[in-house]
Amino acid sequence: MPGDTDIEYASPWAGADFNPFMARRPDASTEERRMAEEFERVSWPELAKLASDVPEAGVAFRRLIRYRRRKDATTPPSEWIEPCWGIHEMPDFRMLEENELPEGIDAGMSVTSVCINVPIYLPWLVSQLLKSHVVFRRAIVEDLPDVADLHHSGHTAALIVNCTGLGSLRLGGVKDTRLFPVRGQIAVVRNAPLENQHPTMYSISGTDDGPEEASYIMHRPAAGGCIIGGCRQKNNWESQPDPSLAIRILTRAIELDPTLVPKGKGIEALSVVRHTVGLRPQREGGIRLERDVIGTKDGRKVDVVHNYGHGGGGYEKSYGAAKAVVRLVEEALAAKA
Ligand SMILES: Cc1cc2nc3c(=O)[nH]c(=O)nc-3n(C[C@H](O)[C@H](O)[C@H](O)COP(=O)(O)OP(=O)(O)OC[C@H]3O[C@@H](n4cnc5c(N)ncnc54)[C@H](O)[C@@H]3O)c2cc1C
Repeated sequence: MPGDTDIEYASPWAGADFNPFMARRPDASTEERRMAEEFERVSWPELAKLASDVPEAGVAFRRLIRYRRRKDATTPPSEWIEPCWGIHEMPDFRMLEENELPEGIDAGMSVTSVCINVPIYLPWLVSQLLKSHVVFRRAIVEDLPDVADLHHSGHTAALIVNCTGLGSLRLGGVKDTRLFPVRGQIAVVRNAPLENQHPTMYSISGTDDGPEEASYIMHRPAAGGCIIGGCRQKNNWESQPDPSLAIRILTRAIELDPTLVPKGKGIEALSVVRHTVGLRPQREGGIRLERDVIGTKDGRKVDVVHNYGHGGGGYEKSYGAAKAVVRLVEEALAAKA
């Protein structure tokens, strides 16, 4: 639940921004790309609506600048900017002019996106569900079908929606061995422009510190701090921050946006709130969003809709994925009727 800090629970650790131009994995299948696009296309207007009309949700518009380094210039554009969707649908998209590019940068784009202050947004989501009289129960589930018997009415639930992220690796009835963690380490710092100074978020195509390291900056609204990342370390379950990686993360952030600190200052001028780690619930083959039927120990069959494996994009795909889940739930219930 929001407020918990278990390493297996990915959502509290995200930045989080909407950055559909992030490189898709080069090995992503056509179906993975189709799903990602469908979900992002549905989610963008919903997140934009929250940013413009629902300040208490903790979502705000931000300019997002994405750079491609000269060193990465051989990266195919499709891996750098995914042009299939969004460019025309997200506001203010443009390629940066030559004279706007810092030293060593070969190309750049600018767009209006959003940043989500997740410690505000997650409790806000809970409050929306409470308003709809949803009943919450807390339990560790060994076998997925057991959930059907946890329904607060005392009756067996008609259907289970399984959104257990990395938990589906070990969850009885699922045990999806295609899941793996992609470790992300971030720093939260106090250095941030005021809201009316229109904070800009940045990301960049690569770093000089190896293929599993990354550099990005996000400014959470409502004084949520500036999020500095990061890394994408596959199959690494380590929950504690690595101090030397932390130094590299802070150093790279100042290179990416020198205005984070006063001119001539280094990382000593970053006021660190904390260093944290989260595990992105990645899945070979992409998100699993499909219907299933699972047997219970006493021989009953339970309908399930799975929705897990969102990797590093669970927020930006959330509304699209939720809509797809609703469709599958309706189909499953109609088939029972
Ligand atoms: C460092 C970092 C940065 C990120 N940045 C972004 C970003 O900028 N934009 C973006 O869109 N996404 C981002 N993400 C990704 C995003 O956070 C995830 O995709 C998303 O949070 C996944 O949500 P989920 O609900 O599927 O999984 P989770 O949030 O992991 O939730 C799974 C839930 O299932 C529960 N569970 C699991 N197993 C069991 C069990 N057996 N019994 C009971 N409960 C169980 C867990 O306790 C947990 O509550 C980032 C992630 C990280 C780590």
